[in-house]
Amino acid sequence: MIPYSTQTINDDDVEAAIQVLRHEWLTQGERVDRFETDLASYCGAEQAAAVSSGSAALHLACLAMDFGPGDVLWTSPLTFASTANCAMHCGGSVDFVDIDPATGNLSVADLERRLEEAGQKGRLPKIVIPVHYGGQSCDMAAIAGLARQYGFRVVEDAAHALGGRYRSRPVGSCAYSDCTIFSFHPVKSITTGEGGAVVTNDAELAARVRRLRSHGITREPDGFSGEASGPWYYEQAELGFNYRLTDIQAALGSSQLKRLDGFVAARRGLAQVYDRELADLPLSRPESAVDAESSWHLYPVRFPEGAHQRRAVFEGLRDAGIGTQVHYLPVHLHPYYRERGFSPGDFPQAEAFSSSVLSLPLFPGLTSGQQARVVDALAGNLPTPGPSGGLHSTV
Ligand SMILES: *Cc1c(COP(=O)(O)O)cnc(C)c1O
Repeated sequence: MIPYSTQTINDDDVEAAIQVLRHEWLTQGERVDRFETDLASYCGAEQAAAVSSGSAALHLACLAMDFGPGDVLWTSPLTFASTANCAMHCGGSVDFVDIDPATGNLSVADLERRLEEAGQKGRLPKIVIPVHYGGQSCDMAAIAGLARQYGFRVVEDAAHALGGRYRSRPVGSCAYSDCTIFSFHPVKSITTGEGGAVVTNDAELAARVRRLRSHGITREPDGFSGEASGPWYYEQAELGFNYRLTDIQAALGSSQLKRLDGFVAARRGLAQVYDRELADLPLSRPESAVDAESSWHLYPVRFPEGAHQRRAVFEGLRDAGIGTQVHYLPVHLHPYYRERGFSPGDFPQAEAFSSSVLSLPLFPGLTSGQQARVVDALAGNLPTPGPSGGLHSTV
């Protein structure tokens, strides 16, 4: 079976993890510090705080911004559930902004309209989380402009977009946001098995995330409110979690990060082949935004006849040994969110996109032979693009 995505691990990665296993320290330590430095430097940001998953990164980013009961967070309905769940974990609430079907990213026009309405009702969001769908950055300059005007914080969900660029800066530079979160799940740009990070230029925010990832405990004498009873002393200043990354994972992450640009180049090359080979098929291919260079996490295609055609193609490809995936079921239509008042029709662009989209296999190790199989199987499961005139010309 050709998967829609999978990790790329080489001997250097294996060796990096083994080296840690042969030493005495396994959990969060020096290698985590080094991975954080490597990641921040790759992104051109000042700080990175590594955590146990992208979902943990979202949760802690919100907590570190004092998001809580009574607060509202807005995001895209075309994302993985955890982009919305982070609001619920903090005891706040979530609402969504519909997407621009050209990119799958949150629609800035819609965001602006919704902010104007919410401003009149006095129900503005405290945090907005734009999701860089498929690895292509949202229009961050426009979102940052609205953030200044309406006073909300911006957390970029760049789980797809490590290695991508926006206005010639790496995604994660946080030039237009308060922080950016990444995921290192095996299908993402680089992997640590499970893992994530909050990247930011705000040292205080990073320090708060680091405290929260380890139970809310501080060991820095500067941060004590009480009297240290000895060198063993530490304090729990607030309620946190165990969201730590291990040194084993961090060593793997630093090793993977060295090859990130190569991974993205391989993904881009494969995307260009799809662009060329699928050009004559009756489907729509991903569109590129002017300011963004995608990391090509996904290659989502859409079928003009919608849900029934998508299902037939999914099944046809599965029977040919090819895995594809739907990114995403609209978050607001999961039972959990329906019970909280959302229903079909609330975000029509996201719903239409979701019902007709399929992500084709795309990962650095996809061979040209495998990619040719995907293209052939797709062509075999779609109506043939005959010369204009169709039936009439075949006599
Ligand atoms: C993968 C992903 C996450 C969650 O990351 P985990 O590391 O799996 O917790 C969040 N948002 C988006 C858009 C993702 O793709």
